[in-house]
Amino acid sequence: MTNADSTASTDFIRSIVTDDQRTGKYDGRVVTRFPPEPNGYLHIGHAKSICLNFGVASEFGGVCHLRFDDTNPTREDVEYVDSIIEDVRWLGYDWGEHLYYASDYFDRLYEFAVELIKLGLAYVDSLTAEETRQYRGTLTAPGMDSPYRDRSIEENLDLFERMKAGDFADGSHVLRAKIDMASPNLNMRDPTLYRIRKVTHHRTGDKWQIYPMYDFAHSLSDSIERITHSLCTLEFEGHRPLYDWFLDTVNVYHSQQIEFARLKLSHTVLSKRKLRALVEGGFVSGWNDPRMPTLSGLRRRGYTPQAIRSFCDQIGIAKRDSVTELALLEHCLREDLNQRAPRVMAVLHPLKVVLTDYPDQQVEEFDAINNPEDPEMGTRKVPFSKVLYIDRDDFLEDPPSRFFRLAPGREVRLRSAYYITCVDVIKDEATGEIVELHCTYDPESRGGSSPDGRRVRGTLHWVSASHAVAAEVRQYDHLFSKSDPDDDSDGNEFTDNLNPDSLETLTDCRVEPSLLEAAPGSIFQFERQGYFCVDAVDSKPGHLVFNRTVSLRDSWAKIAQNQAGAKP
Ligand code: ATP
Ligand code: MG
Repeated sequence: MTNADSTASTDFIRSIVTDDQRTGKYDGRVVTRFPPEPNGYLHIGHAKSICLNFGVASEFGGVCHLRFDDTNPTREDVEYVDSIIEDVRWLGYDWGEHLYYASDYFDRLYEFAVELIKLGLAYVDSLTAEETRQYRGTLTAPGMDSPYRDRSIEENLDLFERMKAGDFADGSHVLRAKIDMASPNLNMRDPTLYRIRKVTHHRTGDKWQIYPMYDFAHSLSDSIERITHSLCTLEFEGHRPLYDWFLDTVNVYHSQQIEFARLKLSHTVLSKRKLRALVEGGFVSGWNDPRMPTLSGLRRRGYTPQAIRSFCDQIGIAKRDSVTELALLEHCLREDLNQRAPRVMAVLHPLKVVLTDYPDQQVEEFDAINNPEDPEMGTRKVPFSKVLYIDRDDFLEDPPSRFFRLAPGREVRLRSAYYITCVDVIKDEATGEIVELHCTYDPESRGGSSPDGRRVRGTLHWVSASHAVAAEVRQYDHLFSKSDPDDDSDGNEFTDNLNPDSLETLTDCRVEPSLLEAAPGSIFQFERQGYFCVDAVDSKPGHLVFNRTVSLRDSWAKIAQNQAGAKP
């Protein structure tokens, strides 16, 4: 019997778990884990793994552990630990009391290593790094046994203990498993288990002078936590024989490693090393720059956990690598924001409009609908007066035939307010730039409704000049202009593929006064323009800053159609 709910997606991993539950392989238990290395911030690729691990656990009535794979102290930091905890929580997942650190197992891992030495299956090697490379062989040539491979068990125990005690310099010795230097699988050619690293660990301090390698620590940590299904990405497929070798050889509880395809997303990079290079090289403002594919960047940009989870659900889990279009992620975001984001009016490129026949001191308030998708979100008051701003893009002096916005002599509707007609265009005498429009209004069209069945084609957003609030708006485009920025076949560095126009800052915008109170991080639809959120870092009372989360135009349907058409 499984607890899998029938609406959940099915994939080959869920099929395996279903089978294991049916056959009672793990006595019905399902225990997964998400094992980040705290050497950077989480990105959208990690979200795929998080949704899978936590999703499978909850669908099958199991638990998912959060385990920090903190075995490499030179690159790791508590800042990253804290950000990872925040990001997984934000996505909406809960590990209960199951928060672990591989470093908590250092004593036990050391004992396992001693056991392997006693079994004659691990040895201290003293080759230099260069010699080690030469002895390893290649994909086509077998490796050679190290001259230190036949050290006695006693000598190995003694040397390993002294490695731990700090008697030797970094790099002078390593502990290796004794497997097979001629194996066609390079991972099986006497892999390193421990190396000397005289660095302070963010949790264990200076207790350890030696640190375990990933494959060794990871498989045994899974075993210690009695993980049932150890889900990892495809590049670990070739490590699975080693994973199994460790667990079989020390003869402990055996978790099952299963590999799936990692997320590759167009127009971005998903490698912590590269993301760190962007931060450290000053190409972005930080790990949480709204253009970054990090969860903290996406959150600051206005992405919701619901949109990210929906995206992970839609891309599914496969055994083969493929590239997902960024447009799909944006599509999932629009679907979600369309439901939840209140509509407001904001003018990004203000053009002054004076209603010549509107009473000078008069102010009216109109009721504007907060979200046509959700009547329960109600209405708000928007002030209206003689001097307004509209967007420069909404006026053309010499409009082409399919331009239905404002033009000389043309009548349009101001959303929720009045019909207006442009009667005069005022220009700067020196530059010829349009500085102001003079319009008349039809008092009979109050609330924006047609007075006599007369139709207008265009409806514009607007703000009242004296009531509007000044704001800065940051508009973002893809961080990379090339669809696959990792592709270096043209001899370019990935940073050469950065989009020089990924950030455009508009400093002179005007937003409706209701936004004065908007909480940091809150998200709105600026009518006719897109979704925008209050920047949680830089927005302050007196200096409102908005990030454009995503535009309104959805290119996903078209891309999906083309992709479907392209397939045989
Ligand atoms: P990076 O290559 O970005 O440094 P990583 O794999 O080294 O990533 P970890 O912290 O070790 O980062 O990853 C934790 C978990 O997240 C691992 O199980 C890993 O397989 C998974 N993961 C990382 N990147 C992706 C991705 N793009 N798609 C799916 N899962 C991923
Ligand atoms: Mg890793």
